Amino acid sequence: MTNIIHECQCAACLADKNREEWKIHHQMNVLLSRLDEQQRRWYVALESKKIGHGGDVELSEITGMDVETIRRGRHELDDDLASRSSERVRDEGGGQPTVEKKTHRSRRH
Ligand SMILES: [Zn+2]
Repeated sequence: MTNIIHECQCAACLADKNREEWKIHHQMNVLLSRLDEQQRRWYVALESKKIGHGGDVELSEITGMDVETIRRGRHELDDDLASRSSERVRDEGGGQPTVEKKTHRSRRH
């Protein structure tokens, strides 16, 4: 699986890449390339919240993520991700064997 790292399209970075801000934006995109879809959404949504007004549009430029997607992520965060399962993927077969002999057999002599 190839991880395509998005290049920041925000006005500041397009004008000048030799800035500390570009490095941060670039590293955000590096991080995003390793996250799964919902993790990406929540991380970007959180960054957008830190900016506040206009954050969704700015983050959309930085990450290439859709503004609507970021907004959805913000709503999910507002809800403490209650609508999202926190279950982790467990490896099957690592647990205890299933208990299945509970039936008593009638004794025979
Ligand atoms: Zn940027």
